[in-house]
Amino acid sequence: MVYVKNCETYEKGAVLECVREIFDRYNILDDVSGLTVAVKPNLVCKKTPEHAATTHPSIVWAVCKLLKDAGADVVIAESPSGFYEPGILKSLYKVTGIEQAAIESGARLNFDTTVTEVDNPRGKYLKKLKILTPLAKADRIINIAKLKTHGMMVYTGAVKNLFGSVAGLEKTQYHFQLSDYNEFADCIIDIFLANAPVFNIIDAVVAMHKAGPTAGEPYTLNKILASTDGFELDVVATTIVKVDPMRVPVLRSAIQRGFVSSNASSIAVVGDATKSGTVQQVDNFVVKYNDDMTRLHFSDGILGKMMAASMRPRPVFNKSKCRACNECVNCCPAKVIYIENKGGKKYAKVKLDGCIRCYCCQEVCMFKAVKIKKPWLNKIVVRNKSK
Ligand code: SF4
Ligand code: SF4
Repeated sequence: MVYVKNCETYEKGAVLECVREIFDRYNILDDVSGLTVAVKPNLVCKKTPEHAATTHPSIVWAVCKLLKDAGADVVIAESPSGFYEPGILKSLYKVTGIEQAAIESGARLNFDTTVTEVDNPRGKYLKKLKILTPLAKADRIINIAKLKTHGMMVYTGAVKNLFGSVAGLEKTQYHFQLSDYNEFADCIIDIFLANAPVFNIIDAVVAMHKAGPTAGEPYTLNKILASTDGFELDVVATTIVKVDPMRVPVLRSAIQRGFVSSNASSIAVVGDATKSGTVQQVDNFVVKYNDDMTRLHFSDGILGKMMAASMRPRPVFNKSKCRACNECVNCCPAKVIYIENKGGKKYAKVKLDGCIRCYCCQEVCMFKAVKIKKPWLNKIVVRNKSK
């Protein structure tokens, strides 16, 4: 069952009432007294809430306040893109508004940067993995994702949000070792299963479309979505923005592994935004980059693979926008980005030969200096395949 709640503002009182209604419907607060509940927002990067790249602090505040009022010990934990260390967490919490949300709700902010190994019997590839200690040690996890497009994975919502339970640059190792999108998608699912959040919320009051997950544009959806089932939640969320779940690698793998149906109409949807059980859809939500990558299926032969490889969108670095901050250099799993110094002007460059097309560089660049460009052949083939 997925709860779709209309919410037209981030004004705290209104958000609190929406979250309270959702929690009541699922009896979330009934037995949390005395438990440690870890709240996992999406704080992918140090951007203010207006950018719509991170979970809005009003929603984090409302969730934490209700849990605290019900007697839980609440800790907010997240590992952003890039380094995972206390100084970076401090400024991340401040800029994203989460520090204030914690102060006002009484929740604790996590600064423990250790990891803890957990068993994952339902995992396909990851039977054991290391996740953030506060998530591993919590009695319960509540996942608060943001609805966004994603350069590599098309869409990010509930399931993908738990990739942030992997500490810092360890994430780049997953990218590097699993450059095949489908295998990477299976690992994202494994990581979600290892965390097993008891409840999932998606902040879709203002979502992000176009060049998400960090360089896109806000898209006002006026909704908070929630479910105990993260897979069902993502299928309903993608359906609302008219993205076929089968074009989202994580959801396609989840469907193939039997975790969820691809058919949103088979999922019970309750709350405001339904008309006789159907999901109301919106127009003009734009998936800019890799929406077409999953349509580039050729034969598995050498020629087919070569054709697909030559048509993969590539990262392009804008010299004049680049501030040579080194974020992308540090985050690149393939270590193919370097800083050029020409006549005193420093800027990032990439050796495309080794690039695995994970688009982490685009994700971490605070200055929108990285764009993902499609080769002309890609545009022609995808256009024809779409007809
Ligand atoms: S491209 Fe962006 S992240 Fe990379 S060095 Fe330049 S400004 Fe920093
Ligand atoms: S250059 Fe960018 S897309 Fe290529 S491997 Fe490095 S981070 Fe990933």
